[in-house]
Amino acid sequence: MKLVFATHNDHKLKEVQQLLPKSIELLSLKDIQCFDEIPETGETLEENAKIKADFVTQTYGLDCFSDDTGLLVDALDGNPGVYSARYAGEQKNAEDNMTKLLSELEGKENRQAHFKTAIHLNFEGESYVFDGIVKGNITTGKRGSGGFGYDPIFKPEGFTQTFGELPPNTKNAISHRGRAIEKLANFLKNKTL
Ligand code: IMP
Repeated sequence: MKLVFATHNDHKLKEVQQLLPKSIELLSLKDIQCFDEIPETGETLEENAKIKADFVTQTYGLDCFSDDTGLLVDALDGNPGVYSARYAGEQKNAEDNMTKLLSELEGKENRQAHFKTAIHLNFEGESYVFDGIVKGNITTGKRGSGGFGYDPIFKPEGFTQTFGELPPNTKNAISHRGRAIEKLANFLKNKTL
């Protein structure tokens, strides 16, 4: 069975393909000749994921899922949230984003935050939403060079290292994205048995 993952990122596609049942063949946006930059105009991660999946299903008539992720910081009322990629500007620079976040939190005692991934799936005429969350704290400085995005300033609960310092396997096992994909994979396994 073919299923579209609404992403332009081949690396993400391969990673997710490995976690899904073998009977499902994932197709990227490139595979279906979709070269549009689908606008992420939603106010929540769930809305953005729905916008992207619905665009594909409505335009191409194909079953599709899409993901959207953000870092939600308690002391900043859930920001940067849907603005995580472009927090410090449209150039979407991870270093600038982290520097801005650290300066916004300067002097604040509450440094609790969580990453959240929302997945929207359109499958056989129905819609489903899956999410994955990892709680943690924002450090006072950048630590580690692994991962991407905000990883060097996010310390997951129960660990002394940041995501930037932890081995990729450890991060993947507890991460927001890993947890959301696991829920999607379980759903699809039951559907395709
Ligand atoms: P996306 O929805 O997966 O493109 O994620 C949006 C933004 O959230 C990224 O550009 C990063 O800034 C941030 N982000 C998402 N996932 C992670 C992660 O696992 N670690 C650190 N930052 C992340």
